[in-house]
Amino acid sequence: MATSVPQTYQALNGKTAHLGRHAIVIGASMGGLLAARALADYYDEVTLIDRDALPLAYEPRKGVPQGRHSHGLLARGREVLDQLFPGFSAELVAEGAVPGDVGDAVLWFNHGYYLHNVHSDLSGLAISRPMLECCVRRRLLQLPNVRIREGYSVLGLICDRDRNRVTGVQVRARNGADDVETISSDLVVDASGRGSRSPSWLEALGYAKPREEQIKVNISYKTQLYRRRPEDLHGKLGAIIAACRPHWRHGVILAQEGERWTVSLGGYFDDEAPDDEIGFVEFAKSLPTPELFDVIKDAEPLGPILTYQFSTNQRRRYEELSRFPEGFIVYGDALCTFNPIYGQGMTVACTEALTLVSAWRKVRTELHRVFSARRVD
Ligand SMILES: Cc1cc2nc3c(=O)[nH]c(=O)nc-3n(C[C@H](O)[C@H](O)[C@H](O)COP(=O)(O)OP(=O)(O)OC[C@H]3O[C@@H](n4cnc5c(N)ncnc54)[C@H](O)[C@@H]3O)c2cc1C
Repeated sequence: MATSVPQTYQALNGKTAHLGRHAIVIGASMGGLLAARALADYYDEVTLIDRDALPLAYEPRKGVPQGRHSHGLLARGREVLDQLFPGFSAELVAEGAVPGDVGDAVLWFNHGYYLHNVHSDLSGLAISRPMLECCVRRRLLQLPNVRIREGYSVLGLICDRDRNRVTGVQVRARNGADDVETISSDLVVDASGRGSRSPSWLEALGYAKPREEQIKVNISYKTQLYRRRPEDLHGKLGAIIAACRPHWRHGVILAQEGERWTVSLGGYFDDEAPDDEIGFVEFAKSLPTPELFDVIKDAEPLGPILTYQFSTNQRRRYEELSRFPEGFIVYGDALCTFNPIYGQGMTVACTEALTLVSAWRKVRTELHRVFSARRVD
């Protein structure tokens, strides 16, 4: 890994307000890192807590199993990351991420039709998910008031005597130590992902659980890495083949750092790509367009074929609850999880950092209601 480039620390909205002494963020994946970046302008100290040991190298980790699968960063996500961390894209490109015009360098096949490739002002970055997360974490930790406690699981929330305000969390080290530790804070942000336990934690404090909106998709993902050759895909950086008649199968191929392709194939409702080499390539042949098959039929596979099952899009409607404690927010996938084929979860986590800042400008109480409903300018 190259050494990081020092950058000027800039407040998001040009000036800071002091909202409190200490903020805690549960989860140090993309959502948590971005929330922490927003909080750093407003709190003296920000502590991220993650149950994983966080790798220094660009490697997948247990707490983010989707990190092994194809991740594309939309142009808006890249734009916000550059706003939050000036010079970030250039830093990534210097380390091997592949920049490209999303309108021109990527082949799009939607609803049974190719989109015209045209130059756009939408600039994307082809990069593996672990590299992106690692680089965001590295930049975040350059802020003097942010730190991470890795290897700690958050067990629950603590609150004041009247149970009106969350005042911290209880944690336990994952290395076997039995002691439960209490960490106090003025704000707790839950960015612990789709499996968030906030509904149960709130219930334990006497609050109702939020209504959950779900859309069942039962989508399967099988992912394989391949060596990338310059002539592949006629020099384009990716192809997104959205499902359409007759098979409703989808495929994604995206360039990554290290001259690699990441290829994900899948279908809906129990239609899965096989996890053997020959079957995987045959499945690619059944996609509505041939580009993906043409690349992988004689490309060199790197590593095993990996599986991910995604059952439902899900949104937890915290803003509808008539009672909700102050000093607590739910963020990122913990709040709302999207079908991965939209490739938007990380970008939503980026824009939520800006939403949080706008929400603070608007209100000081019932922050969760404004933030969760995204009713801010
Ligand atoms: C197969 C797949 C492909 C995807 N592809 C894309 C894509 O192309 N583009 C895109 O933008 N998005 C994509 N996404 C979505 C993206 O991965 C997420 O939106 C993104 O990671 C933000 O999630 P998060 O940080 O909120 O939660 P997560 O990434 O799930 O992270 C949760 C973190 O919380 C930690 N944690 C959990 N519980 C605790 C606890 N009790 N105590 C301490 N720590 C805890 C975990 O260790 C983890 O680090 C994809 C998702 C999937 C499943």
